Order: sequence, then structure tokens, then C-alpha cells
Amino acid sequence: MVTRFSMTVGGSEAATEDAFGVVNPATGEVFEQAPECTPAQLDAAMDAAHKAYRDWRSDIDARRAALRAAADAMFAVADELAPILTAEQGKPLGEARIEAIGAGVWFKYFADLDLPREVIQDDNRAFVEVVRRPLGVVAAITPWNFPLVLASWKIAPALLAGNTMVLKPSPFTPLATLRMGELLNSVLPAGVLNVVSGGDELGKWMTAHPLARKISFTGSVSAGKHVAASAAPDLKRVTLELGGNDAAILLDDFDPAALGSKLFWGAFQNNGQVCSAIKRVYVPEALYDDVVDALAAQATAVKVGEGTEEGVQLGPINNRPQYERVSELVADAVASGARAVTGGRPMDGPGYFYEPTILAGASDGTRIVYEEQFGPALPVVAYRHLDDAIERANATHFGLSGSVWSADAERAAAVAAQLECGTAWVNTHLVLQPNQPFGGAKWSGIGVENGPWGLHGFTELQVLHRAKR
Ligand code: NAD
Repeated sequence: MVTRFSMTVGGSEAATEDAFGVVNPATGEVFEQAPECTPAQLDAAMDAAHKAYRDWRSDIDARRAALRAAADAMFAVADELAPILTAEQGKPLGEARIEAIGAGVWFKYFADLDLPREVIQDDNRAFVEVVRRPLGVVAAITPWNFPLVLASWKIAPALLAGNTMVLKPSPFTPLATLRMGELLNSVLPAGVLNVVSGGDELGKWMTAHPLARKISFTGSVSAGKHVAASAAPDLKRVTLELGGNDAAILLDDFDPAALGSKLFWGAFQNNGQVCSAIKRVYVPEALYDDVVDALAAQATAVKVGEGTEEGVQLGPINNRPQYERVSELVADAVASGARAVTGGRPMDGPGYFYEPTILAGASDGTRIVYEEQFGPALPVVAYRHLDDAIERANATHFGLSGSVWSADAERAAAVAAQLECGTAWVNTHLVLQPNQPFGGAKWSGIGVENGPWGLHGFTELQVLHRAKR
């Protein structure tokens, strides 16, 4: 079967026997077909990656040059990838373009990153070095919220370290990643990066595949636990970037006029579909009404619509199950006594559009406060004592990130240090950059991505001990 978007296996476009429909969340209709990878094709992709590994691992200068070329390729095709991403993901076109460019930025950053060899002894007895070796074939699995940039967080460091890869995007957003795979194939040797598409089953085959030596997974906590279990019998290495339920704690000197907009976008960027978005806000009682009003004003002013429309700031929720989940969590919160100050319901018309929702009067026992909503609905929770707010922010299995907001940055930083999470921001949220390690505490993950620490996650230490006598 020939689809407009192909899997890349062993340097070639791989035709498949079957395909599955991809839905445009702005219409709710299938608009394109994606190839459905069979177990035999996955074997072929793993095999191609395994064969390519021998040469690829041997020449770091060639790898650096290839990653630089990959960066340039991404910059060059951002305008081509953006509409594909918008159609399958829903995000505004400008943000889709920034995401494609972001992937290029990640390739560029890793192309020049040092892969250290450390001499730990050089005396008359021995010369001892600690070096970092690649692992082999990496199975990489990505979610639907940022398909391109999250793939680049895996591809760039894994390839620089000398590994090869089989990558699978989410079945909700396979197309831009497939196209990226086709494009990168022109700058990478055959078999170094293979891109396959299919459902969750395909992910399970990948994590159990005997040729995969490392699983790099981004997705939900529940799938992440399955991935860890599947990798365990073979002792495959795993990096898990999982869900979050980030708390933002506002201190008593928080100024809604100065920081309200930043706070809002920390929660609503990408329609709230960000692992490390603000998912609950803790506000001192004395400031509560002012903060709710400021957030509600922001939510009301936002332009929601189809991502291709000029000036749109938020698109639809990406898929029907997620749309139903957000609707259910908001309805549950309202039934439990919270008040939707703005929104609180799906928008009329086709597609998975949902009104940006600010929930006042939410409390810690409510599902939308203690579960991950991953959508455009934000509960605002009052607190009386700061210690209590910190304890409540930490009283969760999640530990991805969090933030503290105050006119006094030092005071906020002291509070931020008490948050049990991978990234703690002060007076901002969601600032992610290539040189900054990103990962979760507790159920939010194992290991980190980005920076030298992320690169090291795609390597294994080897001691080279040369005796001198
Ligand atoms: P998901 O776990 O349902 O799916 C993610 C990917 O895993 C998809 O490609 C899917 O096909 C695959 N998959 C599902 N079950 C699998 C299994 N048992 N074995 C192997 N692969 C499997 O997640 P989603 O709904 O696509 O994404 C949303 C979730 O991802 C949210 O919880 C969000 O917080 C999280 N996320 C985390 C990060 C991070 O860096 N920490 C970034 C983005 C999203």
C-alpha cells in the first residue's frame, strides 16, 4: 500500500500492507493515512539499525557533521513540516513552525557537545581512562503533544553518542515525524535513523525487541510502567519521561498585574498539553479573588480556533479520548463544588475544541487537582499557611516540575528548593532549553534528557586501564 507519508527503514521508504487513519482534531475527521508497521517490518528496522551501528559508532567527526546537516535540514523544511504538524496535532501554525525549528536547534546543540574521556590516573603504575561508549540500537517512543521536538531530544544525543535508532511517534501524530525521518534520511547513512508508525502494540514490540539495547520513552505514567516492565527481563537501559502534575505556588507578595500573563501561559501553552505545564495553582487566601480574576481575564481574551487561522492562540485538544478526559475532569470538579469562572464546557461545532477553563474553589481532594488533566483547564486552590501549600504540592506521586512566584526571587528560590521535582522554576514555568537537564522525580520518570546529562544517558561507562608495569 502506498501512503503519502512513508516509514523509513534501512535508508529506504518502506511500503506497508496496511494503513491507519489520522484525524485532524480541528474537524474530528480523518484527513490522511499513515503506514501500519508489521512485526516483520519492525524486525527489518531493528536489523537495519543494528547493521548501521558498527560504522556509525566509529567516527565521531562524521556524526557531528551529520547532526549539523540535520539541523540545517530542519531549518530548511520548517515551513513544510508546520502545516502537517498543525493538521495532525492542532497547534497554531506559528507554534508548529517554532517546534520544527526547535528540533533543528537541538540537533545543532548536540552536534558540538563534548563526549568526554576522563583520565583518572596517569602514573608509573597505570594510565586509566573512563570513556563513554554507545549502547547500540535505541528504541525511541514519543507522545502526541510535541512530536518533532521531543523526537529531537532523543535522536540528537543518541546519534551523537554513536547509537542508531528506531523511532515510533504516537498514532495520533505520526505524519510530521515520518516526514522528518524521510528528510533526515538524506543527511544520515542508511539505517542510522529508522522511523516506523503504528499503534501502542508497535511500542510494545519495540520495548521487547531483542536488538534494542535502550528504550527512550516519553509518554504517560501508566505506559511508562509497562515499558519499564517490558525492558526488565532483558535488562535494557531505560529513560522514562512521564507525566506531571506541576504545582505553581504563589507567595503573598505575588502581583497579578506583573506576572498574571506569564502564570496563565505556564498553564495553557499548547492548550495545557505539556507534561510540565502548571496543572494546579496554590494561592494565598488574601490574594485568591485577584488571582482568579486575572487568570479569568486572560482565559477570556484568548483566541481559540483552527491552527491554520490567523491570530489563533490555542487550537483544539489533540484527540477524542483526551477531549473526553478533560470534559470529564472539569464536570467532576464542578460536581464537587468548584466553579468554572470561565469555560467549563466544550465549544460548539466540529472538532475537539474546549473553552479555556479556570476553576475556582477547587480543593486537593478533587480529581482535577490530584490527577494530570493535560488540557485547557486549570484549578486554583487557596492556602492559608505556606508550609501547608508546600506539603500539598509535594503530596503526589508526580514530581516533574513546579514553580514559585514572588516579588522576592530569593525567598521564592528558598521555597522552590523544597519542591520534590526535577525542575523548580522561580517566576516562570516551562522554560526548557537544550543545555538544561529535564526529567522527573517519583513517578514522573527515570533519568533525564538534554545537556551533557541527557547525552550520558545514551552511553555506558567503560574503564580503559593500561598497565605500565
Ligand atoms: P501515551 O503513554 O499514551 O503514549 C506515548 C507513546 O507510547 C505513544 O507513541 C504510544 O503509542 C506509546 N505506547 C503506549 N503504550 C505503550 C506500551 N505499553 N509500550 C510501548 N509504547 C507504548 O502518552 P500520550 O497520551 O501520547 O502523551 C501524553 C502523556 O505524555 C502525558 O502524561 C504527558 O505528561 C506525557 N509527556 C511527558 C513528557 C516528559 O518529557 N516528561 C513530555 C511530553 C508528554
